[in-house]
Amino acid sequence: MGIRHRHEESFEVPTMPVGGLIPRAADDAADVIVRNAKIHTGDSSRPHAGALAIRDGRVAVVGDDADIAPFVGPATTVVDALGRRVVPGLNDAHLHVIRGGLNYVLELRWDGVTSLRQGLAMLREQAARTPKGQWVRVVGGWSAEQFAERRLPTPSEMNAAAPDTPVFVLHLYQTAILNRAALQAVGYTRDTPEPKGGQIVRGRGGEPTGMLLAAPSALVLYSTLAKAPTLGDEDKKTSTRHFLRELNRFGLTSAIDAAGGFQNFPDNYSVVTELAQEGLLSLRIAYHLFPQTPGQELDDLARWIEMVRPEDGDEWLRLNGAGENLIWAAADFENFAEPRPELGRHYEAEFEKAVRLLMEHGWGFRLHATYDETIRRDLAVFEKLAAEGLFPGGNRWLFDHAETVSRDSLDRVAALGGAMSVQNRMSFQGEAFTRRYGLGAAAEAPPVRAMLERGLTVGAGSDATRVSTYNPWVALHWLVTGRTLGGAVLRPPQNRVDRETALAMYTKAGAALTGEEEVKGILRPGFLGDLAILSDDYFTVPEQDIPHIESVLTVVGGRIVHAAAEYEGLDEELPAISPSWSPVAQFGGYRSSPRSGLPGVRQAELLGQAIAESEEHLLWRARRGLAPDASRTFFDPCFSP
Ligand SMILES: [Zn+2]
Repeated sequence: MGIRHRHEESFEVPTMPVGGLIPRAADDAADVIVRNAKIHTGDSSRPHAGALAIRDGRVAVVGDDADIAPFVGPATTVVDALGRRVVPGLNDAHLHVIRGGLNYVLELRWDGVTSLRQGLAMLREQAARTPKGQWVRVVGGWSAEQFAERRLPTPSEMNAAAPDTPVFVLHLYQTAILNRAALQAVGYTRDTPEPKGGQIVRGRGGEPTGMLLAAPSALVLYSTLAKAPTLGDEDKKTSTRHFLRELNRFGLTSAIDAAGGFQNFPDNYSVVTELAQEGLLSLRIAYHLFPQTPGQELDDLARWIEMVRPEDGDEWLRLNGAGENLIWAAADFENFAEPRPELGRHYEAEFEKAVRLLMEHGWGFRLHATYDETIRRDLAVFEKLAAEGLFPGGNRWLFDHAETVSRDSLDRVAALGGAMSVQNRMSFQGEAFTRRYGLGAAAEAPPVRAMLERGLTVGAGSDATRVSTYNPWVALHWLVTGRTLGGAVLRPPQNRVDRETALAMYTKAGAALTGEEEVKGILRPGFLGDLAILSDDYFTVPEQDIPHIESVLTVVGGRIVHAAAEYEGLDEELPAISPSWSPVAQFGGYRSSPRSGLPGVRQAELLGQAIAESEEHLLWRARRGLAPDASRTFFDPCFSP
C-alpha cells in the first residue's frame, strides 16, 4: 500500500535554547537533535552516549554533544534532555492495539486507579454526563488486587452510581458486572438460556443479578459487550489517534498487534490502514490475522493468503503473519479463577491443516497458548510437519503467554526455530493463579529465565487492553521484581531478569519478532529514529518507582509525538476527542498516582479513606441509623424536623 509520511515543518516548532551551537545550513543538518542526555542505546557496540541526531526519520549520529554540534541547522529542533535518561522507543510485542484504538474514547479506564472508591466516583461522574442510549464501560486494564479494598464493585453499588445509564465493568477474563440498566439494554432475563462456556449468575427466582462469569470461556463477556453502541468511522479514527498518543506517553513507539475476536480482516483494519496512508500513525504496528468463526478458520486463512503477504506494508504498518488464534478449538482461555480448560480430543486434525496451509505459503504465525498441556499438543503437530520439511528456518513463529510451559517444551521450541512472547498477565491474575496452582507453580509462571537461557528470542508485552493495562512500565516492573499489582512477590530472583534485559525484551526482541532487528530496537546510525526521554532514570530509580515512569518526550521516525514537562507544546497537534462526553476527554487514560512512600503505609491510608467513604459502608451505616440514608441526602439531618 502506498504510505505517505507526514513531514513536520520543524522550523515552526519552538526550539530549546542551546548555548554555543552555531546553526549550519548544510544539507546534512539534522531534523531533531537530543543533547545533554544519558542515552542507553541498547547497542553493544556503543552502549552509552550523550547526544544523538535524527535526519530523514533515521538516527544519523550517536555520540556526545560535540559530535552532534555540526549537524545543527536553522530548521533543526534541538532538545535539551536536561541530563535525563533516553532509551530506544519501546515495542509491546503483544498488544491488541487495533481493537483498543477503535474503542478507546468510549472506555472509562481504571488502569492505575488505586481504590474502588475512586473507581466508583468516576463511574458516577461519567454516568451523569453520558447521553441517553450510550453506555459507561470499563473494559479491563485493572485488577481488584490493585484497589485498597481488594474487591470488585457490586451490582448494587453500580446501580447507586448509575441508576439509569447502562454500565458494563469487565474484570480480567473472569467476570463482567452489569448494572440494572445494562441488563435491560442487553435483554437478559430469567428466561435467557445459559451461554455456552459461560454463566449468567441468577438470584432468587432466576433473575440475573448482573454478574456474568467466564466458565471458562470469556465469550459470554465479550458478546455481551458487543451489544454496546460503537463509534462512527470518523470517530474511530480520532479514537485510534488518541490511543496511539496515549501509548506514546509511556515511550511506546511500536507494537505487534495480536488481532482478536471481533477484529475481522480487512473490515476492522481499515482505520489503521487509512491512518497509515495519511501519515497519521504515531506508533508503528505489525499486525496479525485471526480467523473469526469457529469451523470456518481454514476458509478465512485461505482467503487471506490470496489477498496479502507477510511483510506487506512498510515500517509504519505491516503484516506479520497469522494468529494469535489459528483455530478456535485450540484456544485455552486463561481464566485462572476456573480450572484449566480441557481442549477437545481431536483439535489436532484441523489445527494441522491450518499450520500446513500457512507453512506451505511462507506465512509465519503467533499462537496463543497458556498451559504446557496445550503447548505439548501443538508441538507434536509442528514436529510432524517439520519431519516433512515444513518448518523452514527463517519462517517466524512464536508461542504467546506460555505461563506454565515446561523446560522440555522450551527445548522443543528451540529445536524447531520458534520464539516466545510473554506478558505480565500475572501482575493482574497472579493471586488467582496462586490460589489454584500454589506458590511453586507461580514462581515459574512463566519461566522467563529458562526461555532466555535457551537462547530463545523472548519478546515482552502487556496483552492489553482487556486484561492488563498497556502501560509498559507496569510490565517492566513485573519482569524485574516478579511482583503482582497487589504487591505479592511470585517469581523468585532466579526467575527474574535485570533491568537491561527487561528493556531489551521490550525493544530489540519485539523488532526481531517482526524481522526488523536490522532497523529498530536499538539506537545506532541508520536505525529508525524512535526514542523516549524518560521522566525518571529507569536504571537507578527504586524498584517500586518503575511503574511511575512516563516519557516526557517521545520521538517516532524523527516526529515528536508526545511532549510533557519542559517540552509541552513541542508535539504534533491532535483533533479534539469526539464524542465530547468521552470519559477519556475527562479522565484521560492511565491514571498516574503519586509515588508512594512505603507500599504498606500507602495501602493502609487508602483503605482507611475507602472504608470511610465506600457506598456499601454508608448503606450499612444508614440501615443501622448511624448515617443519613444515602438515597435521601437532599435534606440535612441536623436541621430537619
Ligand atoms: Zn492470547
